Amino acid sequence: MIPGPIECETDVLKAMGEPPKSHTAPDFIKSFGNCLNMMKEVWMCPSGQPFLVAGTGTLAMEMAAANLIEENDKALVISTGYFGRRYADILERHGAHVTILEAPVGEVVETADIEAELQHKDYKLMTFTHVDTSTAVMVDAASMGALGRKHNVLTVLDGVCSVAGEEIRQEEWGIDVVLTASQKAIGVPPGLAMLVASPKAMETWKSRKTPVRSYYADWDNWLPIMEAYTAGKPAYFGTPAVNLVMALEAGLGNILKEGLPERFERHKKNGKAFREAMRALGLSMIPKNETVTANTLSAPYLPDDVSLPDFMKAMGEAEVIIAGGLLPEIKGRYIRIGHMGCVAHTDLMNAVRGIARALNQCAHKTNEDDGVLAIDKIMRK
Ligand SMILES: *Cc1c(COP(=O)(O)O)cnc(C)c1O
Repeated sequence: MIPGPIECETDVLKAMGEPPKSHTAPDFIKSFGNCLNMMKEVWMCPSGQPFLVAGTGTLAMEMAAANLIEENDKALVISTGYFGRRYADILERHGAHVTILEAPVGEVVETADIEAELQHKDYKLMTFTHVDTSTAVMVDAASMGALGRKHNVLTVLDGVCSVAGEEIRQEEWGIDVVLTASQKAIGVPPGLAMLVASPKAMETWKSRKTPVRSYYADWDNWLPIMEAYTAGKPAYFGTPAVNLVMALEAGLGNILKEGLPERFERHKKNGKAFREAMRALGLSMIPKNETVTANTLSAPYLPDDVSLPDFMKAMGEAEVIIAGGLLPEIKGRYIRIGHMGCVAHTDLMNAVRGIARALNQCAHKTNEDDGVLAIDKIMRK
């Protein structure tokens, strides 16, 4: 129950365990092409250009920055936690002048403040973290896309903790890059960096005056590969992570089989049920209210009388694996529980029971059944 890597479905694991195929084998070419087509469906971006390369989510972030930023471009980072700060570092490394607007812990940056900043300077690009995995705060992606279009700024959505878990309509919402990695709501083991770029983002890249500063991330190297596999032909730049691509084909297939609206609805219900259970145990959440709360993970504060190391030890004994805090200023005071992908009702129940028992073991009295009943009430609706 950590916010990535998450549990994988059986057909995904089976694909991981197959003998590796040649990256030029006809059935592998088909798998790769299927992945690229399914990415456009899952991202809801029929006219976008997908990129699928070996690497982690951080590489996907860097790929967008490396290809869209040139020396001295201005970039605006809307930060709701740890991963916003990471994006500012990446953009600076690629030569951008970065302004970071940081929300107070558990809150989002006010639209009026973003708008004032966009009017004040000639920004080329704006990034935002859809769900910041360090705080469980969710940003309104549709309104960020609209802001970008209004001010003619490229928008980059870090969706590593949201793609395939929270609703994203990339094309309709006018977002230029939506990026993620395989190990979070996609439900595949770690190792794949994924993004879909809008026609406008591709135009911006094509009209660059200077070369991309990263050899591995350069779309000049990867675009012919993506185009070839889409056309059913082999191509080579760097050896694809063949087993991960085969696993991704199964994973994306499962997502589309479930149906995107159904999947988003299920995540919403799981998220709501889990938060209600935490409140029933007396815990309060980092996100200030329900409108800025993610459904892919929960981030409750521990009670003041419970220490994180003691609590995590008790969770280990309860055999429920969750994550500790990540945001430096409150790291030792909260926990993070992922509920993305193929999480079942019983997984949520067991996690709540585990948390209640661990609290009791840390001499903080709670009633396990209050949590379980809170989940049940929502799940039965
Ligand atoms: C996990 C995560 C990342 C980084 O992904 P890695 O695969 O660990 O490199 C970036 N942004 C968000 C929102 C994440 O949750």
